[in-house]
Formats: sequence, structure tokens, C-alpha cells
Amino acid sequence: MTEITIDEMAAFCKRKGFVFTNSEIYGGMAGFFDYGPLGSELKKNLKDAWWKYHVHDRTDVVGIDGSIIAHPKVWEASGHVANFEDLMLECSKCPEKFKAESFIEEKTGKSADGMKAEEMNRIVKEQKLACPKCKSHFKEVEEFNLMFKTNVGPKTDKESVAYLRPETAQLIFADFKNVLDTTRLKLPFGIAQMGKAFRNEIAPRNFLFRCREFEQMEIEYFIHPKDTNNCPYLDEVKDHEILIYSAEMQVKEEKTDGKVMKMEDALKKGVIKTQWHAYWLAMEHRWFVSLGAKAENFRIRQHVDKEKSHYALETWDLEYKFPFGWKELQGVANRTDYDLQQHMKHSKQDLSIFIEEDKQRVVPHVVAEPSQGVDRAFLVFMFDAYNLDKERENVVLKLHPTLAPIKIAVFPLVNKEGLPEKAKQVFDMLRKEWNCFYDTSGSIGRRYARQDEIGTPFCVTVDFDSLKDGTVTVRNRDDATQKRVKIEKLFMTFVQLIFQGKSFAEV
Ligand code: ATP
Repeated sequence: MTEITIDEMAAFCKRKGFVFTNSEIYGGMAGFFDYGPLGSELKKNLKDAWWKYHVHDRTDVVGIDGSIIAHPKVWEASGHVANFEDLMLECSKCPEKFKAESFIEEKTGKSADGMKAEEMNRIVKEQKLACPKCKSHFKEVEEFNLMFKTNVGPKTDKESVAYLRPETAQLIFADFKNVLDTTRLKLPFGIAQMGKAFRNEIAPRNFLFRCREFEQMEIEYFIHPKDTNNCPYLDEVKDHEILIYSAEMQVKEEKTDGKVMKMEDALKKGVIKTQWHAYWLAMEHRWFVSLGAKAENFRIRQHVDKEKSHYALETWDLEYKFPFGWKELQGVANRTDYDLQQHMKHSKQDLSIFIEEDKQRVVPHVVAEPSQGVDRAFLVFMFDAYNLDKERENVVLKLHPTLAPIKIAVFPLVNKEGLPEKAKQVFDMLRKEWNCFYDTSGSIGRRYARQDEIGTPFCVTVDFDSLKDGTVTVRNRDDATQKRVKIEKLFMTFVQLIFQGKSFAEV
């Protein structure tokens, strides 16, 4: 359970300089947010950690950085121009509009995932659902395309229409041939990308959870079609446990959040169909937990048949227990060869691969597409780090050192008698490697509290003994314990604490 609501989190993020409403001085712009001095650091650390885990730490994944605007045919081939739609409920009198799925779920308490327009219209009528603002009835549910349109070049005619990308994934398929021609990748392999995506959401809400401009971190993982059940890395995750909410549990409307299972058992019982899917779901859960998120706040939920995208053979969402319920954090779809086939058809280019052993060409399958929103991940790390410490009477934001915006704060005990000079020397030494903060104002207790609230894992205090014996006090944020450390050993101490993941008690 999270300690605070989403609105309280938004207020906290604003107060501390993590996230601001975009263009606030002009009244704000719904669905757009700006990351402040601390938020931009945390977001960058989060993205770097994702890239390291998913690209640098592996030998089978490479990255690309595609552009935001692509040839409109990319989005025709992918089906976005025709089908990237949400159903909208519009008030018959006032300008209020709602994403029909969320509105119906909220009012009925039941999932509306994959529900068709007719069924929604029936529920709206039967349950007499009306506009919460003016109490008037709704118009019939309508389809609304979420793509942001723009024009490229000086003319604003039909020919110049282009779209801001609604996902990063399609660029990976459009660049597939170039990546293959310039690397020596052999199946199975993945192509990763992170960057901005834009969706003209009908009703952006819940702070960063649903915005109109956001960032994604995605991998398309390609395999030989005959190898869906042949994942050479399965051993690494077979004992991994996670709460599983299967399609069967949802269809039977079982009153449960799911069942904790080992990946190996989920595969044996046929709950998860393919080894690769189990592997990627476990790896994604593990990534969050390795950076300090609470394992028990996650589950994987299988899409029921009616909500599956037309191209997906099987889809699981990694969900997180947000204060407003279990919600999608990441989608992991098995997209088969749908996208490559579509792009082959529309571009008339051959995107198959020659397989030496088979002596024939094969169109690879995307067996799993871990697709993660950066902003939703940001929220998860903030929620799981947030602790109101009653004894200390302040918030202690227990961010993992890898993610923390500021790693070390340095203070002179008092602002006189040589202490600021010594503290500055220590600060200058440490900030060569880490983002550090120097603070002289207020009592030491107040300075510790300020750092606790923004998640700084370590503070260094220079006092009069430092001038005599060359030691300083290092204070650990999470339990407020302290150690005396020689200044010449300080750098290596932080290497152990920040880079090598050693605990404060260990060093
Ligand atoms: P939802 O059902 O919540 O609208 P989706 O199924 O449309 O999400 P995908 O298309 O699978 O989402 O996108 C992959 C990921 O991108 C999501 O799991 C989420 O983390 C992120 N994402 C999608 N839409 C938004 C948004 N409007 N704001 C913030 N993040 C988003």
C-alpha cells in the first residue's frame, strides 16, 4: 500500500522541486508536466539504470534513438492511423468528456477492458450514468483517435500531414533492416529505444500516470518463430516469484488480487504460455525491485481475450498497486511477426533474415515487447520510497542510491573557524564523481531533514575534530546511523556504497 494519495504525491513533487504543472503561470496545460531540478535528475538516473540493465548488461540487445516524427506511412502500416482509438463519453450539454472505459470502470467497479461501444452504451443507459458536472445525459459513445497531427514543411495541406509518435516501438521496426545491416546480431536479439511519445488522451488524470506527452522505454525482442519455448536464460528466473492474476481468474470474477507463483510453476501449469514471456516478465519485475521498489506492490495480469490487441497472441501487463488501484505499469505483448509483415507489405522491402542452419529466410517474431512508461516508473519509485517518519517528524524519501537525485550532502558543522574551507575541500573532491550538495544554513538537524525529504542517501559533516584528526561524520539516511570516516577513505567508501551496492553497516 502506498502511504499517500496521488494528489498528495503531486503536491509533494511540486513542493520539493520534482515535478511542476507545465506552463503553470498561464494556468497550466492538462496532461503536460515539467520535471524540476530534482525530478529531472531522478528521471535521468532512472533512464540510465534502465539502459544499463536492458542494453549494456546484455550482449543480445542494442539500442536506437529514432526521431519523433516519422514518415506517415509508418503509422499507416502499424495500424495507428486507422485504429489507435479510445472510446469517448461526451456530455450532451456541457464540454465534459471522459475516456469511456475508465468512467464505466469507476462507476460500476467492474473492468471495462476491451468493452465494445454497444455494451458501453447499454451500461450507460441501464445504470443511468450522467455527466458528473451538469447531470445531463451522455451522447452515444464515440471513437476518438489519440494521434497528435502536425504538418511538415511550409504548406498545411493533406500531403504535409505527419504525426507525433504515439509509441517508440514502431521506429524499431522501421529501422530493423538498417540495424541488422550494421550490427552482427543473430537471433534471438532485442532492439531497445527510449524517448518521448505523444497521445491526445481524452481525459489525462492521476498526475503523471496519464499524460499527453510522456516517455517510454521499450524493447522489441526478436526470436526464430520455432523458438517461442526455447529461452536459454530461463534458469535465471525459474524460481522468481510474483503475484499472478490470470485471464481465468478475471473471467471467473474470483475475489482475489491473484496468486503468488514461481515462474517455473506458472509455465508448467500453462498459466504463462511461453518461456520467453515468463523470462521477460520476471526480468522486468526484478528491475524495479533491484532499484528499491517493493516486490509485493507488483503483479502480472494476463489480458482477457476481448481486450487483446488484434496483433497480439498473448499479452501480460506488469501492474503496480497505485493508490487508485492496480494499474498497468508496463505492457508485455507477444506481437508475433505482425509488425514486420505489415512494414514489408507497405514498404515493399524484405525484412526477413537469412538463417544459416535452415538455409532459408525467416521473418522473426517479437515474442515479448516490454514497453514501460518512464513517468509511471518515476511514480512507482517515488511511492515506494515515501515514508513519513514519525520520530524524525519529516518525510524520509528512501530512494535507491542509484536513483537519488543528490547522492551526498556536505555540511560544515558551523560556518566559521576553518570548517567551511575544509568542508568545501571535501565537497569538491566528492562532486567530481557524484551529484553533491553543499549546505551551511540552519541547524545540522534541519539540514539532515531537508536531505531526507529529497532522498539524499548520505550526508557528510565536517566538525572541529575533522581539523585535528582528518575524519568526518558520515550519516546514513535510512536509519540515521553515523560513522566516523577518514577523509582519505571517503571516496572509496562512497564507491562501495553507491556503485557497489554495499550496505552502510558493511562498509
Ligand atoms: P493504458 O491502458 O493505461 O492507456 P496502454 O495499454 O495504452 O496504457 P501501451 O500502449 O501498452 O499503454 O504503452 C506502454 C506503456 O507506456 C504503458 O504501460 C505506460 O507505462 C506508458 N503509457 C502509455 N500511455 C501513457 C500515458 N498517457 N501517460 C503516461 N504513460 C503512458
